[in-house]
Amino acid sequence: MTLRATMMMGTAALGLLLGACAEPGPPRTALMGATILDGRGGTPLRNGVVLIRGGTIEAIGAREDIPLPRGTKQVDVAGSWIIPGLIDAHAHVARWALPRYVAYGVTAVRDVHNEPDSIFAMSEAADLGSALSPRIYAAGAMIDGAPATYPNATEVTDTRSARQAVDRLSVSGAHLIKAYTRITPPLMEAIVDEAKTFRIPVAAHLGLTDALTAGKMGVTSIEHLSGVPEAAGRADPLFAAAQDGFFAGWTAFEKSWATLDSVTLTRLAGQLAETGVTMVPTLVLHEVFSRLDDSTAMTNPDLLALPQNQMTAWNVPGMIERAGWTTADFEAFRRGRPMQDLFVRAFQKAGGKVVTGTDAANQMLVPGASEHTELELLVGAGLTPAQALRAATRDAAELLGADSLGTLVPGKAADLVVLSKDPLADIRNTRSVTRVMIRGQLVLADSIRRRW
Ligand SMILES: [Zn+2]
Repeated sequence: MTLRATMMMGTAALGLLLGACAEPGPPRTALMGATILDGRGGTPLRNGVVLIRGGTIEAIGAREDIPLPRGTKQVDVAGSWIIPGLIDAHAHVARWALPRYVAYGVTAVRDVHNEPDSIFAMSEAADLGSALSPRIYAAGAMIDGAPATYPNATEVTDTRSARQAVDRLSVSGAHLIKAYTRITPPLMEAIVDEAKTFRIPVAAHLGLTDALTAGKMGVTSIEHLSGVPEAAGRADPLFAAAQDGFFAGWTAFEKSWATLDSVTLTRLAGQLAETGVTMVPTLVLHEVFSRLDDSTAMTNPDLLALPQNQMTAWNVPGMIERAGWTTADFEAFRRGRPMQDLFVRAFQKAGGKVVTGTDAANQMLVPGASEHTELELLVGAGLTPAQALRAATRDAAELLGADSLGTLVPGKAADLVVLSKDPLADIRNTRSVTRVMIRGQLVLADSIRRRW
């Protein structure tokens, strides 16, 4: 109720209104009776209440401890579980995907390269609540060395142009900087240093800089475990391959994992954890791309629910042809997967921060759905379900620099997910999304699915 609307009413109507509400202000909703996992890692709260006012959590606690002000709308979610909204920290958002993220319980995404005009507009629309969309933290266009991998990247040729690119992106509203595969160590150093001036984080998909060098320079997050084999002794051949082109570099990188030894990887994981860099491993990307030759993957219901033209737009056979991938390559990718898992486990064990990311909507990576696959793969790599959830909520929010997200605590944003099954009993239960609340607005997952 706005002051102006109140003043426009007669005194009789105003009297009625005040009788109905305890006090003026945004309406309240209470989610009643669920087991609440607030994202801080403590014991789950059974038969709890989350009281939401406007877009904010007002109170949270045991049912008997939370008095409900008059006029509160009560929603019975007894027998359910409530977790903080999930965050996909490596996304390339497409407009068609926005409601889908929400239906899968993803309430915030970090977009690490897109058309700047459209992604900043989408981010703004999300903030205004004018579209059913996750919150979007966007890098705008990635910064790449010459020749840039993508025509819509910002190409830099020396440290001066690298600093200018960071300045321009910061001023135009980027929430973070994304550095790409052709960035050499001197360029990376300039980017990180300039980004510090603007207090803006740097995410890096490394190609010509190894992970330990990047971590020591102060890069905020390393994407796809890039630069790790290079730091584990494979720098020369992998940098040479990256110079040959994106796919040559990626193929050599992905194949190199199977040749690494666990002692070296474990030691490196410890050194990287010490630098404070966050890992966004995107295991789902590695896993899905290692099985692109497996046609049974197409029976996956998440893929079948995609918009009709999406498979055509992805053109997977075309990508395989451009990359030149053979059966032997896919076999080598699959042989490397256990070493990637080992590295993630060792990094996490050494105190390093791991955060969920998916690379959707790149080929075969379904927006929203792939977040749940990533959670499952993180548990497969050795994280507990609680640690995986933390990677998708609290630690991901910290990576976004978003204090108000990631945990369910009074005063924080009312972004949460209602599940029909216990995610701590089996991480695959994060898929049992029934309702999603974003900015205090409660939506039924099924009703979004019916409309997409
Ligand atoms: Zn990406």
